[in-house]
Amino acid sequence: MDRVMNTPTSTTVTSKPFRLGKEWRTRNGADGALTSINPADGSVAAVVTRALPKDVDDAVAIAWEAFQNQPWRRLRMDQRAATLYEISRRLKAEKESLARLQMQDSGKPLKECLNMVESAAGHFRYYAAICETWQNEMTSPRGDYFSMTLLEPFGVVAAITPWNSPIMNEAQKVAPALAAGNAVLLKPSEETPQLALELARICTEAGLPEGFVTALPGYGEDVGAALVKHPGVRMVSFTGGTETGRLIGAVAGQKLMPVGLELGGKSPHIVFADADFEKAVAGVMSGIFSSAGQSCIAGSRCFVQKSIYTRFMSELVARTRAIRVGLPDDPTTQVGPLISATHRNKVADYVDLARREGGNVLVGGEIPDVPALARGWFYQPTVIDGLSNRARVCQEEIFGPVLVALPFDDEADVIAQANDTVYGLGAGMWTGDYARAWRVARALEAGSIWINTYKQSHIPTPFGGFKASGIGREKGLGGLRLYSQVKSVYWGLHNQPLGI
Ligand code: NDP
Repeated sequence: MDRVMNTPTSTTVTSKPFRLGKEWRTRNGADGALTSINPADGSVAAVVTRALPKDVDDAVAIAWEAFQNQPWRRLRMDQRAATLYEISRRLKAEKESLARLQMQDSGKPLKECLNMVESAAGHFRYYAAICETWQNEMTSPRGDYFSMTLLEPFGVVAAITPWNSPIMNEAQKVAPALAAGNAVLLKPSEETPQLALELARICTEAGLPEGFVTALPGYGEDVGAALVKHPGVRMVSFTGGTETGRLIGAVAGQKLMPVGLELGGKSPHIVFADADFEKAVAGVMSGIFSSAGQSCIAGSRCFVQKSIYTRFMSELVARTRAIRVGLPDDPTTQVGPLISATHRNKVADYVDLARREGGNVLVGGEIPDVPALARGWFYQPTVIDGLSNRARVCQEEIFGPVLVALPFDDEADVIAQANDTVYGLGAGMWTGDYARAWRVARALEAGSIWINTYKQSHIPTPFGGFKASGIGREKGLGGLRLYSQVKSVYWGLHNQPLGI
């Protein structure tokens, strides 16, 4: 993390406070604030009061007090729906300004940020609708009783999110957690602290009782870790890197606490010779270069059947060269900056490693030499080939606009190579053969499979990973279940006392 960049240069800047119950907490100075840097030009996007581990104790106590004493969890689900709809409506009403904040915090192109606010509003609307229509299950009794299963909230849950899709990732957790009746403590990434504060504000303004959503903009290693360890936190939902996920999973194992882990990926994107060529080239490019490759489901390993490899690569390289890298608020921009200087160095180091491992950098592989972009952390869209799938750049998540291309012989070969990874988040393929599409979809080890499309993701369909890409599923009905514990109720109807 960019701790140097994230330290305020001036103690005179007053930081944005965060709210703990009725109180606003403000701190300033190097140890008391986080500075969010605009990745497009290195300017200060915001200075935000830094939450400290001692705030976690207060936040947990406030959340439990709210959970126990406010009516939220005792409301019928259809009654909770009204507030969730109102949060959705307010997110939409503030779409433009939230998207601009998001753009300044994360550097994502404005059009992507607008889509993310839409998606955040959509999550609240979807879980409001689920609350309206949820049916508890009556199970078929096998004796003189009724039996049923109910969903109950955990109480206080923590949601920890990364920097790449704030507001959307945050809504994906907060909306179902609230729908299930929980109070939520939300720890956003230190790089993008602003949207969580805005979401907490909007929830309160929409009528959610105080203490049900608290944003804690602090560092992961202290505030994040304190949340996970805290005995008052009964469930953690985490999105971020696999190594952090392992740390959280280990603590959760000790606490015997349920977790949802949405982690990294190195997704295969397969092009068979019988694919629609035009759509496949466009799909592969959009799969890796949208969001400048800073996407957990980026299709970062492209497998192309040998008989079309040369033609496909030549088209891919020519079109990649023509991608418009630019400022996030320019509507013609296709690829914006990376999140930070540190992250861009990491991406550039991987490209250097690929060169050392014998790879051919076919296009990109440099910082763009464009004066208008010189103050930001841009990197050219890059395509590399000439490596084996075992090379480090084919195995490790780069999280940038870097595609590695690999030829394959046949179905068996590509399935083996595609699955030869510790990850299993997404996988895509382009083919004209529907029977093959089905066979390969069943054989790939990944939580989401895209056939003749890529990176589609919508709210009703479960999302999550196989293998080291995670545990559990968000979105859809499973999203509500993730934040709920199941209670089974037996209701006796016996005419006679029970025997021994
Ligand atoms: P990190 O794992 O570094 O951080 C994610 C969050 O966890 C941040 O809020 C971070 O705080 C916090 N954190 C860090 N250390 C701890 C800790 N010990 N205990 C508790 N919380 C901690 O990931 P990035 O922010 O770098 O995000 C990129 C990663 O996220 C990629 O691997 C990507 O694949 C993955 N991701 C997965 C998605 C999915 O749905 N599967 C979606 C989006 C991203 P701080 O910012 O202060 O470090």
